[in-house]
Amino acid sequence: MKKQLEMLIDLQKIDLAQEALRMDVDKRRAKVDADRDLLGDLGASLEQQTEALEESRRLLASKRGELEEAKKSHDHANEKLNAVTNSRDYAALEREVENFKKMMAQLEGEIESLSKAVEEAAASSEKHQSEYDTLKAQIDVDQKAVDDAAASIEGRVAELQAKSDELAKGISPQVLARYRFIRSRRSGEAIVSASGGTCTGCHMRLQPQAFIVLQRQNSLECCQNCQRIIYYSAEEAAALHHDK
Ligand SMILES: [Zn+2]
Repeated sequence: MKKQLEMLIDLQKIDLAQEALRMDVDKRRAKVDADRDLLGDLGASLEQQTEALEESRRLLASKRGELEEAKKSHDHANEKLNAVTNSRDYAALEREVENFKKMMAQLEGEIESLSKAVEEAAASSEKHQSEYDTLKAQIDVDQKAVDDAAASIEGRVAELQAKSDELAKGISPQVLARYRFIRSRRSGEAIVSASGGTCTGCHMRLQPQAFIVLQRQNSLECCQNCQRIIYYSAEEAAALHHDK
């Protein structure tokens, strides 16, 4: 069993090296994916903003049209007022002219605030568009870097995989299955030292009886707490003792 575990430790070193290479690329890929999600959100809100801006512009154009109409009506009523001879018609036309003036003043006020709102919305939209473009360009750069990194580790990963496969041939299926099961459940180490009587995977103290069994090194032992395979190494135990 001691020899089996030693081989398994070597196997794990190779697997961890491979995992580290992959994790680095995966982490960078996850960052690009997150940025892409963010870009999607930005794009959606930009679209909404653009629609709202166009709607405001249409409203502004229609208000300007209304103002033109009101001006024409006002001028027309004013001409009639200047030509009128009897006082009853005069009073009625005067009211009409007055009403058009009020209408024009109200429309002018509306147009002014609407113009200001459109201007602000256009500026904000432009700013968001530029943020969107910047992020999009950044994502393209990052994506290329991640793809390059993934391609560059491919050879090394394959090399490590071949070594791992080769080592695995010498390890019993039972030990290997246990190791692979733990590795599938968690990243990082699946076989850890417990030479000081403590599982170095989860830092739980082993039961004295379990530690005695472990020291015999003739069975496959797992930590009761974290389920990792544990091994005892006399050299490590001596080094630990020396450190204290
Ligand atoms: Zn443990």
